[in-house]
Amino acid sequence: MANEARLKGKECIFCKIVQGSLPSKKVFENEKVFAFHDISPQAPVHILIVPKKHVVDVLDVPTSELSVFADLFQAAQLISAQLGIAGSGFRTVFNSGDHACQTIFHLHLHLLGATQMGGSMVG
Ligand code: AMP
Ligand code: ZN
Repeated sequence: MANEARLKGKECIFCKIVQGSLPSKKVFENEKVFAFHDISPQAPVHILIVPKKHVVDVLDVPTSELSVFADLFQAAQLISAQLGIAGSGFRTVFNSGDHACQTIFHLHLHLLGATQMGGSMVG
């Protein structure tokens, strides 16, 4: 993907999902946040929670907009309860950049649960 597209969100599939021009299995939406099932789930529950406003990754969030992380984790609290995994536990992950194998350059919080996960996070 060209740098320009990464930076400006052109052709960004998560922007299109937020706007409704690409389909998704939505589980949650509020003014700031949109959440949907991952198309290739790595756990029985695998949700992607994204800000409606395009930002590339964790490093692309300016200091003045750090509240986006609170918005994403508030959604994680609500969705984990909604989907019945709050009690059994879940994992939340941000992938940023090459070493983390980030593939979609629109900030997203993975919410994974409904299975016993391993202790390693770098497998
Ligand atoms: P990451 O590797 O952290 O960038 O994660 C991107 C995630 O987006 C992967 O888990 C993909 O399976 C998921 N994904 C890609 N395209 C779609 C889509 N159209 N709808 C839902 N999830 C998607
Ligand atoms: Zn985007």
